[in-house]
Amino acid sequence: MFTPVPQEILDGLTDVAMPKIEPAPDAEETLEIDGHRIPVVVAGAAIVGSGAAGLRAAVEAQRRGVDVVILSQSAWGGTSACSGSDKQTLHTANTADQGDDFKDMARAIRAGGAMDEDTAYIEAVGSTRAMASLQYLGLPLPQDPLGGTLRYQTDHDEVGRATSCGPRTSRLMVKVLAEEALRLRIPFHDRTTAVEILRDDAERVSGLLAMRNREQGEANPYGLIYFKVPTIVLAAGGPGELYRDSVFPNGCFGSLGLALEAGVELVNLTESQFGIGTRREGFPWNLSGTYVQAMPHIYSVDADGKEHHFLADYYRTTQEMASNIFRKGYQWPFHASRMLDFGSSLVDLGIFRECALGRRVFMDFNRNPLQVPGDEPFSTDRLDDDVATYLGTAGATQELPIDRLSHMNPLAIELYRRYKIDVATEPLEFAVNNQHMNGGISVDTWGQSSVPGIYAVGEAAGTHGVTRPGGSALNAGQVFGTRAAEHMAKRPAQAPQGDGKALVGAALARMDALFRADSPFSVDALQSEIQARMSDDAGPFCFADRVSAALSEARALTDALRAQGLAKPRGNQLSRAMQWRQMALASEAVLTALDHFIARGGGSRGARAICDPEGSAVPNTRIGAVEAFRFRAETPEFTDEQILVRYDGTGMAVSTRKNRSFDEGAKTFFERDWPAWLTGAIYDTEDA
Ligand SMILES: Cc1cc2nc3c(=O)[nH]c(=O)nc-3n(C[C@H](O)[C@H](O)[C@H](O)COP(=O)(O)OP(=O)(O)OC[C@H]3O[C@@H](n4cnc5c(N)ncnc54)[C@H](O)[C@@H]3O)c2cc1C
Repeated sequence: MFTPVPQEILDGLTDVAMPKIEPAPDAEETLEIDGHRIPVVVAGAAIVGSGAAGLRAAVEAQRRGVDVVILSQSAWGGTSACSGSDKQTLHTANTADQGDDFKDMARAIRAGGAMDEDTAYIEAVGSTRAMASLQYLGLPLPQDPLGGTLRYQTDHDEVGRATSCGPRTSRLMVKVLAEEALRLRIPFHDRTTAVEILRDDAERVSGLLAMRNREQGEANPYGLIYFKVPTIVLAAGGPGELYRDSVFPNGCFGSLGLALEAGVELVNLTESQFGIGTRREGFPWNLSGTYVQAMPHIYSVDADGKEHHFLADYYRTTQEMASNIFRKGYQWPFHASRMLDFGSSLVDLGIFRECALGRRVFMDFNRNPLQVPGDEPFSTDRLDDDVATYLGTAGATQELPIDRLSHMNPLAIELYRRYKIDVATEPLEFAVNNQHMNGGISVDTWGQSSVPGIYAVGEAAGTHGVTRPGGSALNAGQVFGTRAAEHMAKRPAQAPQGDGKALVGAALARMDALFRADSPFSVDALQSEIQARMSDDAGPFCFADRVSAALSEARALTDALRAQGLAKPRGNQLSRAMQWRQMALASEAVLTALDHFIARGGGSRGARAICDPEGSAVPNTRIGAVEAFRFRAETPEFTDEQILVRYDGTGMAVSTRKNRSFDEGAKTFFERDWPAWLTGAIYDTEDA
């Protein structure tokens, strides 16, 4: 039986108002350095970023007695607050029916390889606590009448461990965690961008420098503020600005460059997710789930306004084409092997090639998929069994896609209406975009990076392997946010020594050297060069020669920036300029890892096809093989290792390490293992 959902409930789940933040108190100390007056905030830990992961780390640490401050470029910016999909997913152990098996779940999380086995288990076993505490804080996860959580199947998930509050699950997570941060009176420095991590002569963390427009003045031309803290949690999200073709919200820079400059090691940078969505030039949103399960007609339009039914060239029958459009619902990320045997990633290939021809691609919810030449027209009576069963169970056998969508998920339509796009009346333009960085800062089992005192949580951390089940990003941020907080409370770092004058003075000198009137590099030029290179040469389809050429160009850019600096922008763009310079480094790091992988013979994996004329696999279509996209098959020998990249001040050093293991047969024994918990020995680890 289906219950109609009243409009005010739909509104509440799509229009999520955020709490009001009180301005953080003024700094009590000031550093005087050669005429500069820099405010100083002293605290126990600085959390960089106020997404779901950062806020989790902040509230958990504050509750454990750590004196925390949050600083955020934009309080409700970032992907948690601004991104989503038809049912934005949280992946946790299944609590309905007979419950779950954490080891089985861990195996599923790390199934794609290049993932630490202990990390996968930590995410699995920690997920119930993460979810229950979010529910305690007020996250409205749907339940059945007996208290089991409603579940569904998502990407890389054979069991059905996904749940959702609707399109805006992560924004609702930010809301309930932010309310908790406000209840705990954690100082919240909004519009404050971390630009440099400071380490003393003994390499210990001495805090970080941030920029804030309102601090700018004659005695503080860069608008600096010094957070004098021994512990930093990087929770700055993913590097969405790396790519031109992106479904990240605007202004997502992440902290990979910031971390590289501080000597922090990065991992798995080869692994990113690409898939269909609406781009950030309009309203960036993921188009998985019911958007495609409704099976809209997908077509392209060329410069002369002519429509092309391009998917008809890829699939042999109307049924095969429509069923694969449907499967993009839970096979959302592009995956090379799904281009074979007329699988669902031929849809991504088709869209990618249409865009490369300069055509615009749309989905139209008022038209069923047009027929494949020579075959019967579309009918809900002619669909593959898995598709027919799903739609039958969902009761979604209506005549038109818009009616099927409205029946299965009215929130999906409401959501776009909020942004003045009515998919019920107009076709929706979309593309294959970059959506998520699976790699990032290398961390140990407590979220600590290779530099003691610096933790990374959420998308900033490189905890995912080659594939990740949908919703595991949000879960990982909650689990590791909690663990990092526990660790910093139990293993507090030593407070920074001295007044910090020398360190801040040296950073000021570096900024003076960076911003030069005669530099040929503007921020705009940096942005277009980096984004074009990454989208054209390091997107879902990579060609060995183009990746190595792109790496040479990226290296040349960072060399030139070191030698010639950056043209000084307007005052309110200074932090952006610092971030773009760091993006140049991040881009070089990603290309370094990718080039290293491809040069060693690495094959297609995750959401990247490594295209190669000598490759063993070729996508076949109704009208023949697409030889230009012949690709290397996956190379199993690389699944048990991870690629590490470190910056030494002039260039990138690459190395590899084996995945950390987890003994599935080991059992805990209460009396034996209790003392390690009581004494805190569980917090001691050599893995980093
Ligand atoms: C369209 C889309 C759909 C998605 N759907 C899902 C899904 O269904 N399930 C799932 O698990 N994941 C999904 N993801 C991924 C997931 O949303 C992110 O991985 C997750 O929200 C990241 O959370 P975070 O807290 O690490 O970072 P973010 O939420 O991005 O927060 C980063 C924070 O850092 C701040 N910041 C950045 N740089 C600085 C700086 N230098 N100084 C100070 N502050 C800074 C920002 O202002 C922001 O507050 C999706 C992503 C996108 C783009």
